[in-house]
Amino acid sequence: MSRNINRRELLRWSGALLPAAAGIESLHAAERRQEQPKNIIWMVADGMSPGVLPMGEHFSLRARGKGTIWHALGQRPEAAHALMDMASLGSIVTDSSSASSSWSTGSRILNGWVNMLPDGTALTPIGVLAKGQKKRVGLVTTTTVTHATPAGFAAVSRERDDEAGIAVQYLKVCDVVLGGGTMFFLPAARRDKRDLVADYREAGFAVALTRDELQRAAPGRILGLFSRSHLPFSLDVRHDDALRATVPTLAEMAQVALDRLSTSPDGFLLQIEGGRVDHAAHNNDAAALLWDLLAFDDAVGVVLRFCEEHPDTLVVITSDHGNSNPGVNGTGTEYMESTSSFERLLLARRSYAAVTPLLEGKGGRNAERVAPTADHVKETIRSSFGIDLSADETEWIQKMAAQGRGVTISKQLDKMVGVLGQVLGNHTGVGWTGTSHTSDYTMLVALGPGSGRFHGFMKNIDAFPILCDLMEIRHRNPSMTEEKAGQYRKAAGIVRAEKIHWA
Ligand SMILES: [Zn+2]
Repeated sequence: MSRNINRRELLRWSGALLPAAAGIESLHAAERRQEQPKNIIWMVADGMSPGVLPMGEHFSLRARGKGTIWHALGQRPEAAHALMDMASLGSIVTDSSSASSSWSTGSRILNGWVNMLPDGTALTPIGVLAKGQKKRVGLVTTTTVTHATPAGFAAVSRERDDEAGIAVQYLKVCDVVLGGGTMFFLPAARRDKRDLVADYREAGFAVALTRDELQRAAPGRILGLFSRSHLPFSLDVRHDDALRATVPTLAEMAQVALDRLSTSPDGFLLQIEGGRVDHAAHNNDAAALLWDLLAFDDAVGVVLRFCEEHPDTLVVITSDHGNSNPGVNGTGTEYMESTSSFERLLLARRSYAAVTPLLEGKGGRNAERVAPTADHVKETIRSSFGIDLSADETEWIQKMAAQGRGVTISKQLDKMVGVLGQVLGNHTGVGWTGTSHTSDYTMLVALGPGSGRFHGFMKNIDAFPILCDLMEIRHRNPSMTEEKAGQYRKAAGIVRAEKIHWA
């Protein structure tokens, strides 16, 4: 290469730099544009305590001969990492509606509400704002589609349990809605007898009620409902041919959602939730939790493949709160039994949700029931979990079946699933702190344009301004202080009964 060419090159570069140097602002603007994803995918493994990721990795290696995609993604140098404080308004422990609302609006609200302040002020959720930017909006979940986490991105309600009302609100916001919950759409099950499925059809949605129909549905907007309530646990689907034929996996639903949303010229906002991870944790059911985590991980795989083909996509993978904090305790001399104990989880063929009805006492109410026989309990546990109980362990389960409570000292664990968790934990090494949500920071990993905005210790409400920036949305929602919220709670006499299905 001659000196002249070098000089010419140098001059050309200097010339090109001059106007840019004169306008640093335009350079920043260009950088910002580069950071601007066309599509945003927000993935939530609901109720996933920090200890679940390492358990999931150990389980995945043994159950499917490979580690989790989540774990592999975490090792990529371009992946951004954060830990998030998910506290709600007035409690260091959040529920899912408050958690999802906090991401969606940048305001902390009371548990049990959806995108609304205690004084009734409606907040504008991120799904509605994205729609205003001409983006398509999708919600995919393994719970009812109207459940707390998806609702937090697209609805406003004083009451998260008003799923029939939330189902109506999606009509104006969403383009893809996939999950469970026909009970909130079909006229026979709705109190107002409204045929919401017909209304969705009218609005241009294809409707799918089985896995086959999902694959065959006409292109465009889609409503897919594959169960009366939540979709069954992945563990139960694995061992039931009829369920496998009719219920799509989370990964399959994610793929359909991406196929339909990705034709949008202005991009999309998609939330994908592995909602039953949370329910398995409430049940202290380690095998069900891990199989649903792997189902979520399969969906992560589908999303990452999409991101490779569409690099203008930001994906955020996280959870909304811990739940019951499972962990594998060391067992045996020098903990040499821990691994083989944990591997017993691979023998499970039924979720606790499927097993507990088989263990119920017969006749009467609490403390009057007749316990199942010891042989029945032992055989049910052996055929469901591949574990042989001791006489003592069998007796604890019989006692709980007969009494309904008063069996164990921990108030949280004093229920059939709590006793099952403890008894089977003797064999698997998995222990639990309780049966409800916990205050842990949640893990977050992000990839794609804008992912660098997520780092270090963050608050749940930090996500909203980032998402707005990335979608060029200027809106800011109002918020309320803890003190003021306390006054409203007192004045309104807001007292809520503890609800076990809260997720
Ligand atoms: Zn929950």
